[in-house]
Amino acid sequence: MKDKAIIITGAAMGLGLATAKVLAEKGANLSLVDYNEEQLIKEAEKLKSEYPEIEIIRVKADVSNEEDVKNYINKTVETFGKIDGLYNNAGIEGKQAPLIDYDLKVFEKVIDINLMGVYYGLRYVIPIMQKQKYGRIVNVASVGGIRGVINQTPYVASKHAVSGMSKQAAVEYGKDGILTNAIAPGAILTPMVAEAFKQVNPEDPKAAEAEYAKRNPTRALGDPKHVGLLVSFLLSEENGYVSGQTIAIDGGESNMY
Ligand code: NAD
Repeated sequence: MKDKAIIITGAAMGLGLATAKVLAEKGANLSLVDYNEEQLIKEAEKLKSEYPEIEIIRVKADVSNEEDVKNYINKTVETFGKIDGLYNNAGIEGKQAPLIDYDLKVFEKVIDINLMGVYYGLRYVIPIMQKQKYGRIVNVASVGGIRGVINQTPYVASKHAVSGMSKQAAVEYGKDGILTNAIAPGAILTPMVAEAFKQVNPEDPKAAEAEYAKRNPTRALGDPKHVGLLVSFLLSEENGYVSGQTIAIDGGESNMY
């Protein structure tokens, strides 16, 4: 990944930050994007001191705001002169509730961030990659982009859409040297998943976590670093022919009946 210029959205924590660490270790230059500016500054400074040999910029952006997305794309090109890879990762879960009771405002917000945020990223990065005749894109779906998940209607709808848009980008822009895939993580222990366990069992979220882990074929939750390593491959030149796929990273759980 040396000298590659990679954008990571949702880089201030969780899967975005874990992937930033993996890519930094492999020598990539990074454009870190998040709307939580305080956390973004803190983590970007830590990465800079740990990996002084790479260049890191940070851009405050809400991915559901089209102008913010144009801005993070422009800032990255101004700094690095190119964009080799986009990790379109920022997303939210929303509040858990049955389909017919779901709060419409929360529904809209989940769609705006998870679906439109990913779409704007594709819309503005692809023309840059077309000119380069090279690009790698990883969109973050979820096991909820392959299956239904109780009480998470807009999340599941948005993540199925991410999987669909990844196929769409793959079939329309493969001719330009752009490979686009989605990943579908199962339960990986990040702040977002810790919050979900709090909603399942507010009294004892750790018990909900242990109960969930028992169901997995590996009897464990995923480690964010596992996701970072998969994303790193998909964003690299080593990936020469994988495109349009939604790749589950879930210890095999989505295959269970
Ligand atoms: P997280 O909440 O731990 O981190 C998400 C990061 O994205 C935060 O830094 C947050 O500030 C940022 N963010 C959220 N909305 C944003 C917006 N509108 N604009 C800019 N930044 C924004 O979550 P995570 O677990 O790391 O999840 C990352 C992605 O992976 C999400 O798309 C999520 O749906 C997906 N995912 C996670 C899991 C899991 O097990 N952790 C499973 C399946 C899918």
